Amino acid sequence: MATSQQTTVEQEAVKRDFYHLVINGEKVKSSTGETIKTYNPATGELVAEVAKASQEDAERAVQAAREAFDNGKWKKYPVGKRARVLNKIASIMRSRFNELVELEVLDTGKTIAAAQGQVSQAIEDFEFYAGAIVGHGGSVNNMPGQFQNYTEKEPVGVCAQITPWNYPMMMAAWKIAPAIAVGCSVIVKPASLTPLTTIVLGEICLEAGVPAGVVNIVPGSGSQVGNYLVEHPQVDKVAFTGSTPTGKDIMKKASDTLKRVTLELGGKSPNLVFPDADIDAAVDGSLFGIFYNSGQSCEARSRLYVHEDIYDEFMSKFVEKAKQIKLGDPFDKGTHMGAIIDQDQLDTIDGYVKSAIEDGAEVLAGGKQAHPEGYENGFWYEPTVIANVNHDMKVVQEEIFGPVVVVMKFKDEKEAIKLANDTVFGLGSAVWTKDGAQATRVAKQIQAGIVMVNCPFSAFPGTPFGGYKQSGFGRELSIESLDLYTETKSIVSYFGSRPLNPLGL
Ligand code: NAD
Repeated sequence: MATSQQTTVEQEAVKRDFYHLVINGEKVKSSTGETIKTYNPATGELVAEVAKASQEDAERAVQAAREAFDNGKWKKYPVGKRARVLNKIASIMRSRFNELVELEVLDTGKTIAAAQGQVSQAIEDFEFYAGAIVGHGGSVNNMPGQFQNYTEKEPVGVCAQITPWNYPMMMAAWKIAPAIAVGCSVIVKPASLTPLTTIVLGEICLEAGVPAGVVNIVPGSGSQVGNYLVEHPQVDKVAFTGSTPTGKDIMKKASDTLKRVTLELGGKSPNLVFPDADIDAAVDGSLFGIFYNSGQSCEARSRLYVHEDIYDEFMSKFVEKAKQIKLGDPFDKGTHMGAIIDQDQLDTIDGYVKSAIEDGAEVLAGGKQAHPEGYENGFWYEPTVIANVNHDMKVVQEEIFGPVVVVMKFKDEKEAIKLANDTVFGLGSAVWTKDGAQATRVAKQIQAGIVMVNCPFSAFPGTPFGGYKQSGFGRELSIESLDLYTETKSIVSYFGSRPLNPLGL
């Protein structure tokens, strides 16, 4: 029997047939006995069954997290001790790296190279926050006369953390690591389509010495379990990553209890190629920018703008290489692009492509479902390049979340910036130019949380990640996240020798 301070979790194989919920330091079945089945999107085969949390389970998780936060010792640990536990989580993950990668590939259908990068980053997130927390704290501020002010950073409390299906391991790490680093307790609700590595990460947290109740994992329905956590009066903060419509709904519902809310939402990120760019580097970076993770990336650079002087040369190389992208066995290092998460997402992607064709756009590559040999029962879509679009089309304005890029020409810097900012989103963006001054000018004017200059990568531990406009607010992956999991308490004191008598009584 676990107490609030110990756990009884033993190491099991990472890959198994059944996964439990993690509540109050124990691996438990759902109160209803219900399960979720997860399928390998690359093959359509069953991967595992997972206990499906009910509202009763969510309530138990809230109570466990509340008790661990209010009466537990985690937040009172010396910061160095908490840092050691975070490092231990990282070291257990590292020792089980290949197993975690395998499970992530099976659960998501992504390529092994992508999963390796993402699991590596998840590990580094824990290491980053183990270091960052040691230097995180309040400040001493100037005050007039005989007064003194200092601030303290206190953990915000019990946090509901709701994650999407596209980067399960990484999203869980982005959320759990900073929250527990500052002393919060968390209840993580992963997406039902890809809950496996998040559950294993919860188990690893217990194995590393995180006390019972501090990390709870409750896979279940968004509209039931997710919603229950968002509305729960004993939950202090919601950290959500997912689509913009769900983010809006969560923000409304969290307002009744004035919870702290951070939202990492959708995107439609622009990719600007200027005439002096290194064309080959820009082609390769732009291909990665859209087709990495099969385009199922919040910061996928799905709007490609190319200067008219280099458009023909750039596009002929871009389209030729897009057609060479290899789909198939996700465990084969030679495979460039993995599967689409499920049939619904495949239909959504195809619907967007068909709507573009009906609106008069031209498909330069791809444009239909793919059937890689040996993987005919999975969900695949061809890397798709669409030209001859105008800026009002759905395919240009809405997030598709698949391997589909729209391409347009621009004539000068001013027009490029105008087109880049003509969107409700503001997550990622990329600029390709050898002119440093131009890169700086453009970066300053793009309304997005991230600007990649001559670079296809955006997410590194320590670099703030988050959106402008309807891509959400708050930043993850960086020191800022520590602030977003804490409240600032301001302490004002008087050290004069004469008693104060402000009313003159
Ligand atoms: P989604 O919004 O459908 O679901 C995300 C999570 O929210 C899931 O766990 C789901 O079960 C839960 N949920 C759904 N309805 C809910 C409700 N009413 N209350 C509480 N929880 C609810 O998103 P998705 O399809 O899983 O993920 C894709 C989306 O995530 C894309 O829009 C993508 O851009 C976005 N995303 C953003 C980032 C970022 O950092 N900005 C990163 C990854 C993904």
